[in-house]
Amino acid sequence: MVQTITLPDGTTLPALGAGTWNMGDSAARREEEIASLRYGVEQGVQVVDTAEMYGNGRSEKLVGEAIAPMREQVFLVSKVLPTNASAKGVAQSCRRSLQHLGTDRLDLYLLHWRGSVPLAETVEAFRTLQREGLIRHWGVSNFDTDDMRDLERCAHGGECAVNQVLYSLEHRGVEYDLLQADRQRKVVTMAYSPIGQGGALLANPVLRRVAARHTTSLGGATPAQVALAWVLRQPNMLAIPKAGTLAHMRLNLAAAELELGPQDLAELDGAFAPPTRKQPLAMI
Ligand code: NDP
Repeated sequence: MVQTITLPDGTTLPALGAGTWNMGDSAARREEEIASLRYGVEQGVQVVDTAEMYGNGRSEKLVGEAIAPMREQVFLVSKVLPTNASAKGVAQSCRRSLQHLGTDRLDLYLLHWRGSVPLAETVEAFRTLQREGLIRHWGVSNFDTDDMRDLERCAHGGECAVNQVLYSLEHRGVEYDLLQADRQRKVVTMAYSPIGQGGALLANPVLRRVAARHTTSLGGATPAQVALAWVLRQPNMLAIPKAGTLAHMRLNLAAAELELGPQDLAELDGAFAPPTRKQPLAMI
């Protein structure tokens, strides 16, 4: 994998990670989901993203089982719900997540979205976990530019490593200001749902036409691969598509080989217009 991102402390990571929302929900899919994650990590995916919310712990448990033989190769991310973002709640949630994941530390812990707990309290709770050695980095998710400004005003708010937001061809609003603002703060942007959750985006005729012009080591490029390569072309961007099958994981790894040219980008801009004014941050 060629593209990388660098965290504020200099840690470098491959720009392609793995999402796990809905993993662990189906007994019939469990084995393949585990195999997909293990294959991804063997092939160089490091970032594995989960959350206490996903399946009420089922995703974390599946991830724990998948990475048990390869924990040191993984940069493990989980998230605390805003309703658990108090000092006491963060301490409890983190320990519960560690138990589900069968590990003694998270590499990155995110506030899933902003709630009513003052940001300063959550930041202090994250810093306590860091001192205890339970987390290495902390960050946020679904924070718009004004939220990032508020965070920066908190004591130690500038230590935020990552902002995880919705970003794909279908949701380009963050290009207007947030991506640049994150870059200036040296906060890595992590793109969730980069291939439109495998939905209508992949049937778009322009995306299909662009895909038809490209190949990867696996053969003709697919719309999902182009959608992913389009997200990965941004600097400072880490994408976490969810691949619940080996076939999808292989395709997503091969997407990193794709280089989109000016004509591809122009056609995609025509079909998925870049923002011309501020849009409220889209969320799923
Ligand atoms: P994605 O855009 O990653 O799409 C996942 C869907 O696409 C699945 O149905 C998957 O099917 C399918 N898929 C994967 N690879 C391919 C491929 N190469 N070709 C065709 N279809 C493919 O959506 P997610 O919403 O899952 O987002 C990714 C991750 O981001 C989540 O899993 C989660 O970790 C995180 N997230 C964070 C949020 C937040 O609020 N912070 C909100 C939403 C997501 P299959 O499973 O069969 O492989």
